[in-house]
Amino acid sequence: MDIKKRYFDYAATTPVHPEVIKAMRPYFDDIFGNPSSVHSFGQEAKTAITNARDSIAKVIHAKSEEIVFTSGGTEADNFTLSGVAEAMAKKGNHIITTTIEHHAVIEMCKFLEKHRGIKVTYVQVDKNGLVDPEDIIKAITSQTILISVMQANNEIGTIEPIAEIGKIAREKGIYFHTDAVQTFGSLEIDVEKLNVDLLSASAHKLYGPKGVGLLYIRKGIRILPYLHGGEQERRRRASTENVPGIVGFGKAVELAEQEKHERNEHLTKMRDKLIKGILENIDESQLNGHPTKRLPNNVNVTLKYVEGESMLLNLDLEGIAASTGSACSSGSLEPSHVLKAIGVNPEVAHSSLRFSLGRLNTDEDIDYLLGVLPRIVKNLRAMSPLYKKSK
Ligand code: PLP
Repeated sequence: MDIKKRYFDYAATTPVHPEVIKAMRPYFDDIFGNPSSVHSFGQEAKTAITNARDSIAKVIHAKSEEIVFTSGGTEADNFTLSGVAEAMAKKGNHIITTTIEHHAVIEMCKFLEKHRGIKVTYVQVDKNGLVDPEDIIKAITSQTILISVMQANNEIGTIEPIAEIGKIAREKGIYFHTDAVQTFGSLEIDVEKLNVDLLSASAHKLYGPKGVGLLYIRKGIRILPYLHGGEQERRRRASTENVPGIVGFGKAVELAEQEKHERNEHLTKMRDKLIKGILENIDESQLNGHPTKRLPNNVNVTLKYVEGESMLLNLDLEGIAASTGSACSSGSLEPSHVLKAIGVNPEVAHSSLRFSLGRLNTDEDIDYLLGVLPRIVKNLRAMSPLYKKSK
């Protein structure tokens, strides 16, 4: 008998919305022109990009010319850090970020430290993964050129006080970047209210296609291009545009605007039911991340005395797709840097699971998961000498 497959890994990626596929389809063949070409084929493609840019800009209260399309969230993060570091080299060489950023920020910071003489302060977070704005203030030096703090964490779902940090940066005349990859299309994003100068997003997290993202760059911000070799994106990002991808991104954002309030309400209910069900039915379990300031779709739990990978395999056999942490670090033996940062013991960190919910999940999915997970954990613990010893 075929088992029904149930997906709980929407933070890793999402299925493309059928309306998005419909919107993209003509741009693979009928309207295939290069947007830089002067003929009508090219101009039609260019118009499609302009329309997508305009509608996305409107949603986040930005100007159209402040949006640069990229190949995804990673490029937007890398572009910010390297572009600002190079453009602002005369002003200073210090960047502030946090210990729980996505690797697209952390690894780029490490690269800049090693190869570009940049100094980076990685601000610690509290046990719920929250950044204290006071700690950002303390980290500022006369050399600080950029502060980068994510709007919400991809592993534990904690939502950061971005507007407050942005205000601090603004008052000190320091650029402020936020990685909004997990919040775009879900939380309210107004670049004015959030006081952000730069913001990264990625289409595949909001039912759009993979391989397309954006960097919002506030007018007047000094940043050098990351890719060179063409006039595209007002000379800020060379390379022929991913026209179907950009059209799909535009459509995905439009749909998210229409659907997000109702969806978030449903996601929050399912999330809370799942958290309650796990904590009540599995002993030695704990929730990671902030209890209330968290993404509507994120559940991250530690279930002591069982290996995350073993749980994933067993869940997969029951048709359930989940994750042990961020998609990028799955399969690595290193404990998650995020769980480490919130003080989860490295041994216990390996016993963690992330369930991220999305638009196709139902209450029945949650009931099914709550029926399966305690049994899997019980069976695995039955083989754990450590668990037996603890009893
Ligand atoms: N930033 C965050 C917070 C993410 O969750 C991800 C993807 O998991 C990225 C950046 C990278 O985005 P992309 O996959 O579009 O490169």
